[in-house]
Amino acid sequence: MNNKIWLSSPHMGGTEEKYVKEAFDTNWIAPLGPNVDGFEKDMESFLRNDVHVAALSSGTAALHLALIILGVKAGDEVICQSMTFSASANPISYQGATPVFVDSEDRTWNMSPEYLEKAIQDRISKGKMPKAIIVVHLYGMPAEMDRIMEIADKYEIPVVEDAAEALGSSYKGRKLGTFGAMSILSFNGNKIITTSGGGALVSTNEEWIKKARFLATQARDNAPHYQHSHIGYNYRMSNICAGIGRGQMEVLQDRVSQRRQNYSYYAETFAEKAAITLPEEPTSDFYSNRWLTTILVDPASGTDREELRLALEKENIESRPLWKPMHLQPVFADALFYGDGTCENLFNNGLCLPSGSNLTSEDLARVTTIMKRCLEKVTA
Ligand SMILES: *Cc1c(COP(=O)(O)O)cnc(C)c1O
Repeated sequence: MNNKIWLSSPHMGGTEEKYVKEAFDTNWIAPLGPNVDGFEKDMESFLRNDVHVAALSSGTAALHLALIILGVKAGDEVICQSMTFSASANPISYQGATPVFVDSEDRTWNMSPEYLEKAIQDRISKGKMPKAIIVVHLYGMPAEMDRIMEIADKYEIPVVEDAAEALGSSYKGRKLGTFGAMSILSFNGNKIITTSGGGALVSTNEEWIKKARFLATQARDNAPHYQHSHIGYNYRMSNICAGIGRGQMEVLQDRVSQRRQNYSYYAETFAEKAAITLPEEPTSDFYSNRWLTTILVDPASGTDREELRLALEKENIESRPLWKPMHLQPVFADALFYGDGTCENLFNNGLCLPSGSNLTSEDLARVTTIMKRCLEKVTA
């Protein structure tokens, strides 16, 4: 059997162990220390000089703290992009609030500004002012941020930007993760850079970031004994993980170009194949890190995304359908949804291809050879 080709596997740069060794040598084996501070600084200077960053145990924890800090409580409603990973929506439920899901639009596959505004207007007409809007940049592609921010500002609803998949992407030259009132990043093992597990909360509001660090370390008041006036969480990033993160930040730019090269390779390979389309950056305003290369398979072509997925699986190659929309998930079956089925269509026909920055040209050729075999059957 050939070696397994993963969808997106960790790719160390080489200096990670130096930072981790430093942590051992200085005995900073704790959820605080010089690597945590250094990693936060690295992210701040990468993203934008006016943002503050709290390094946390996961992207999910970052979203949870964002909602807490924005005052989302039981009974509130929070608008969320339907097509996303469940971690975008789960923190709404942690707070006892109710998610209201919004469809995607065709250009970016992210939140439809049109249905966002419809959802807001309808909820307001029912006496329910949404407490926050969670917008996601799927697979690294920027959402339509101008229009989304314009709508959010018009109704004065804060945006939480889920940039878990989009570190290194930008919109109109501005890094994703700097648009929201608060934004989150993830460093899970499959993301563009990883700390094995981790996340970050980003905001220009320094008080909020300080509050996030406070809540993430069990909300201990300033007293010699353990004194608490708030419910706390154990959400801080470990100094060991942050050491990995510091090494990864040194190669982030390379990782973005390697993933963009994967995309170009796939795009060129399938350029002549009518059955397969790859999402393009709609205009030069959109710059995607191409975390994952995705394709849409025309179901009228004679093949479909499931046939391709199974053919790859048989050859020990991992691929995966696009995110299944949240409003179609059993756990959110009762939730409201505003849309026309765009994201359901994308889910039915879309596939994520192996996209790691550590794939060799032989790996990529193995993937496309198998896919081409399926496609040749189609035209035969
Ligand atoms: C990975 C991911 C998260 C969650 O991040 P974790 O660090 O795994 O908790 C949230 N949203 C999206 C869109 C993701 O892809």
